Amino acid sequence: MTAATHPATVDLSALPPYALALKERINYLPEAQVTRVMRAFQIGAQAHAGQERKSGEPYITHPVAVASILAELGLDAETIIAAILHDTLEDTELSREALAGEFGEVVAELVDGVTKLDKMRFGTRQEADAESFRKMLLAMARDIRVILIKLADRLHNMRTLGAKDQGSRRRIARETLEIFAPIAQRLGMNKFKAELQDLGFHALYPDRYRVISERIRAALGNRREAMGKIEAALTARLQADHLPALVVGRIKSPWSIYSKMRGEHKSFAQLMDVYGFRVVVDSAMSCYMALGMVHALYKPVDKRFKDFIAIPKANGYQSLHTVLLGPFGAPIEVQIRTAEMDSVAESGVAAHWAYKTESGPANSAQARAREWLSSLV
Ligand code: MN
Repeated sequence: MTAATHPATVDLSALPPYALALKERINYLPEAQVTRVMRAFQIGAQAHAGQERKSGEPYITHPVAVASILAELGLDAETIIAAILHDTLEDTELSREALAGEFGEVVAELVDGVTKLDKMRFGTRQEADAESFRKMLLAMARDIRVILIKLADRLHNMRTLGAKDQGSRRRIARETLEIFAPIAQRLGMNKFKAELQDLGFHALYPDRYRVISERIRAALGNRREAMGKIEAALTARLQADHLPALVVGRIKSPWSIYSKMRGEHKSFAQLMDVYGFRVVVDSAMSCYMALGMVHALYKPVDKRFKDFIAIPKANGYQSLHTVLLGPFGAPIEVQIRTAEMDSVAESGVAAHWAYKTESGPANSAQARAREWLSSLV
């Protein structure tokens, strides 16, 4: 069937720039799926026509941004379509039947699931209640993709929080720190978690955020030279042994410093007095070789080595962790992993729903992820 005679063909010239950008971003999907996604955009834009965000932009820019965030994780067409339509049941005339008729039962179920989660309100500040509320959310979403859409929705709302009044900003920020960042963490979605935490911290305690960020910047200035020297020494050692590797320095985020100062009663200086590096190599075997090489370069600290490659964390995280005694007296924390392990470390359970051309392995990974999810709740 040629594009010209395809019944669901989308007129590209009629698309606004943000929809074209989304189309570009989902180019990992087969053409027929891309057409379905763009059809979802047209239906969503029609349904939200006339509605605006607090910022004055057309409302549809929000669900499109949510879909784009999920497209960055390479998620399947159902998830992207449901993300575009995630607010239609709540805020427009579209019915569940209409969604199921147009896009199938899976998409309708996902949108319905997000709508139900949105109706749950979290009011209290008690830690124990936050925990049971998180469990309830996870249990309610029978399909983990509902949670992925909800987390992306929250991430975009946090990125655009400035348009809201101060009361709403604080309420949303607190809920983000107490409910959604911990859920992202539990799902192994570390990149989402870190951004949710820092946006939440910034919105809830702007002064503390500013003070800590400035101190981090100052501390980094002082130690830039030491960081550079250690990085060069690690790189040179791996190169001398002919192991292709990428060595990157890691910097702690304002929220992680702040929460450790409070939770572990450590001083800012104690927390900053550690160097962090990540070594990315091409295979699991290379990880162990790299470990031997860095241990030969700097003496490892006793009992600080962890092998999460042989024994992965429950959420699939894999990496070797070790701590070295560095040349400047401060300990050096090193994580060693493959590029694939690195992407699982960043996107966690979402990596299992990435679109794959051959369906076999994806399905077994999804089954494992489902099993793991049901063990959580
Ligand atoms: Mn939304």
